Amino acid sequence: MTNTSIIASARRIVIKVGSSSITGVNESQLDLIVDLATRLMKTKEVILVSSGAIATASPIIGLTAKPEDLATSQALASIGQARLMSRYEASLSRYGKLPGQVLLTVDNLSDQQSAENALGALERLLELGVLPIINENDSVATQEIRFGDNDQLAAQVAALVNADLLILFSDIEALYTKPPTQPGAEPIPVVPFAGSLEGVEIEGTSTGYGTGGALTKVAAARLATEMGVGVILTSTKHASEIDSKDHIHTWFEPKV
Ligand code: GLU
Repeated sequence: MTNTSIIASARRIVIKVGSSSITGVNESQLDLIVDLATRLMKTKEVILVSSGAIATASPIIGLTAKPEDLATSQALASIGQARLMSRYEASLSRYGKLPGQVLLTVDNLSDQQSAENALGALERLLELGVLPIINENDSVATQEIRFGDNDQLAAQVAALVNADLLILFSDIEALYTKPPTQPGAEPIPVVPFAGSLEGVEIEGTSTGYGTGGALTKVAAARLATEMGVGVILTSTKHASEIDSKDHIHTWFEPKV
């Protein structure tokens, strides 16, 4: 299916964007995500899951690489989350829209009562015409009990809010038959629900501030599709026209 037709028929969409797509040299791409979100908000309900807190804070305090220890990561997340939301607030103000920050932990979503509370808050934000922006509550999450990557968080949020579409924006355009830097790598247009990916070489290495590579994307897509949410995996650079022009992507079909 084409990305435009999938998006046109969706009613409630969760968009996930990763750290490397909106920080550093790609800082300006945050506006592309906001342009898309606000455009879709005219006719659909949209929730954004955004990473980037740690990557935003690192240069502010003079770090050049991702910190190894938990306390530093937590401190950076705390500094960077505020800055990240300011950037979203400024970008959304171009459209007269507001962001609503929602920080979640694994506990929040595994406990039925807190999950219901989170859902209530998200539903209300949507009714108010606000863009909910979710991140993991990194400054209180512990190493053992973390989503760890926001792909997983986005899949769980998409299931919680009963979304019909999750768009995973990434550095890569699609899932490829082998890492896209290797010769002969071909994009996989469709992964049928629970379809076998045998023979596909799925890279799991992290680069810079990103976590997980294609591996976490596929794991998140599997989780979301199992819960009935279809998933588009595509490149952040297509964000400005993903709803109007067809691009290379992978469509993970949901369970029906
Ligand atoms: N929550 C982390 C942050 O905002 C990123 C986790 C991830 O890379 O998915 O920096």
